[in-house]
Order: sequence, then structure tokens, then C-alpha cells
Amino acid sequence: MTPPRWAAVARATGLLAEDGTPRPTIFAEMSALAARTGAVNLGQGFPDVDGPASVARVAADAIAAGANQYPPGPGIPALRAAIAAHQERHYGLTPDPDTEVLVTAGATEALAATVLALVGPGDEVLTIEPYYDAYAAVIALAGATHTTVPLRATPHGFRLDTAALAAAFTDRTRIVLVNTPHNPTGAVLTRDELGAVARLATEHDAIVVTDEVYEHLTLVGPDGTRPPHVPVATLPGMAERTLTISSAGKTFSFTGWKIGWVSGPAPLVDAVRTVKQFLTYVNGAPLQPAVAFALSDEGVAAWVDELAASLSRRRDLLCAGLTAAGFDVVVPQGTYFVCADARGLGYDDGAALCRDLPRLAGVVAVPVSAFTRAGSSADDALRSWLRFTFVKRDEVLAAALDGLARLA
Ligand SMILES: *Cc1c(COP(=O)(O)O)cnc(C)c1O
Repeated sequence: MTPPRWAAVARATGLLAEDGTPRPTIFAEMSALAARTGAVNLGQGFPDVDGPASVARVAADAIAAGANQYPPGPGIPALRAAIAAHQERHYGLTPDPDTEVLVTAGATEALAATVLALVGPGDEVLTIEPYYDAYAAVIALAGATHTTVPLRATPHGFRLDTAALAAAFTDRTRIVLVNTPHNPTGAVLTRDELGAVARLATEHDAIVVTDEVYEHLTLVGPDGTRPPHVPVATLPGMAERTLTISSAGKTFSFTGWKIGWVSGPAPLVDAVRTVKQFLTYVNGAPLQPAVAFALSDEGVAAWVDELAASLSRRRDLLCAGLTAAGFDVVVPQGTYFVCADARGLGYDDGAALCRDLPRLAGVVAVPVSAFTRAGSSADDALRSWLRFTFVKRDEVLAAALDGLARLA
């Protein structure tokens, strides 16, 4: 008998050891550790301040005004129009809001429906490693094979190894799933790196799926400017083979709302919708007009820019504290995470340090091995690395920095 799909998912995400022993994810273990010890939790990546009140007000008004029944399957027209206008304003992309935009239950459902729609047993999905944990789960759910290409720590940040990228493609590669700005490393992939992805995907006739949930959270660099976010769909010839995924959660600090979207060529969006309509059908009726407002309002756009500026400042504080404590830090160019190597502190195993860190410094982080798979070259290279978030209030970060100072 074929083993049940849940077991493949559990194995792919570390919920089952190779010998079949169940175990909690490291995320659950670390959050429990934070709760038990009262340590500052820089492990879980969600903001501790909500997004703009003006946006929350639109949602509250929509509930009061009766937007409480199933919205249209593809999403309300106002939101699809706002997503299309956003793609045009920021990137010069012109998806048709009626046929080339689909609203989903967060980026997570967009990713799941896309992978389930487009691949099955025998197909390969190529992702960057380390990777967001949901990727491994949904690829296993589809019965497809997960292949990876490592990001490597360099003096210029985490960079894509383009020779390894070329070697990772096979004639079974159906999807290449690219996340930029990248969680957990904070890398913002360059036009050259993404050009290599585009060229290889075209050569191998693969579909590119991009996870751009941090598209607006690029951070100020040493030269005082923010690196450009480049959607693969904007590269020559790529719009016709790329599905672009994003969501309101990270951009507007409403991670609990779970309003996401996917845009791309109509036949591909159709395929995704076919699956999506039987996963959740629809979600978030009163939240959809609020996200349409958020995507269109100039005041909210200024709020997002301010968030990116404030995250840049908070990144600098945390990076300085980690460096002073003896970590080797790769300064992130985007997202709200920083990865730091603990070898200088005498730890070869990041998970071991994560278990000791509440006692040593009153801080909780997650090991980067939570985003790699056992035995891969990225897993080897990043075994001693930890991920910290800086999307926390100043006083929370100050408490973490005080604790980290005890490590030095
Ligand atoms: C948070 C996150 C998601 C999930 O987004 P939702 O809209 O909450 O589903 C997807 N990808 C990455 C890289 C993330 O960090």
C-alpha cells in the first residue's frame, strides 16, 4: 500500500523522523520555550503592532454594512482591479483583472493551489534552499519531488549559486519556485540572478512561480537606497510563463487576515482557480474591500514606506547587537529576518544554541536548519546559523539586545 500523503508531508517538514517517530516542529518547540522561560521571542516572524487603522476601519465598516456572505469565487472585482493596478503602477505589468488575477486565502493557499494544480508524481519542483517550510509540505502533498539550489553566504550577502542552479535543473523540472525578498536570509535577488532563473526556466520549459510577499519590505542599504525588487514576470519573455504570488499580510502588517493573490497568464490562473475553488472556495469577504483600499490609498503607501524605513533602523540595531555578541551576521537587504552564524560563539549546531539561548541571553530564535533538509549542502553550510526577527517594538528589541550583551 502507498503510504498516506500526510506521512509524506510530515516527513518533508520534519514532523516525522526518518524512522517514523513523531516530533514537534522546531517552531513549536521554540515558541513553547519562549512561553516557559519568558524569553524575548525573536523566533516567530509576525509584527507586534497592527497595520494602519484606516485599513482596519474599512474592514469594520464592511462588516457593519453587510459584506458577510460568500464573495465571488475569484475575489471581489474592486480587489482584483486594485491588484492589477498595483502590478501596473509598481512594475509595468498589466494583468487582466477578470482573467489573470485570483484572490486566495493568503499567499499560502496561492502556493498550495498552484503546486497542486501544476505538478504530480514524477515532476520536480525546484526551490531555493533554505526555503519557507510550506513549500516542502505542499510539494509532498502533490506527490512531486522537491529539488533545491543553495543560497550561499558571501561578502555581498546571501547569493544564488548560478552554476549550482544550472546543475539543479533537469528535464523533469516543471516549476521553479523563487522567493524574493527571501525568507529566511533577507536576500533580495538581483536582476542577474533572476535572469539566470529566467533563462534556465525557458530552456527547460518550466513554469516560474514567485513568492513576493516581502515585495515592499526592501531595506535601506549602505548607500542609503533600497535595492529594487524585481518580479521575474517583468523580465523579457517571462510574463507568459510566470505566476506571481503576493499577499497583504506582510506588506500591511495584517498577517492574520490571510488575503493573498496570484496573477499571470489566464490559462495558468485558470488551472490554479480550478484547484483553489475546492480548497477554500473563498475567504475574507469583509477584508477584501479593506485590502483593495490598502493597495490603492496613498496614505497607506506612505505608511508602508515608513514601515520599511523603521525596519531598516531596527535591522541595524539587531545586527549591531548580534555582532557585538559574537555572531557573524549577514545583513539582510529585505524582509524582517536576519541570519547569523554562531560558530564564533563555539556552537556548530544552531538548534543546540537555540535551546540554550533563553538561559544565556533571554532570547528565542529559530535554527536555520528549520528551513533546510537534512543532508543537503545548504543544510551542511548553515547548520550553525540562527534566524532572528526584528519586526518587534523598540522596547522588545531593547530587551533582546540587553540579553544578547550578556553573551559577549
Ligand atoms: C509569511 C510568508 C508566506 C505566507 O503568507 P500568507 O499570506 O500569510 O499566507 C509565504 N511565503 C513567505 C516567504 C512568507 O514569509
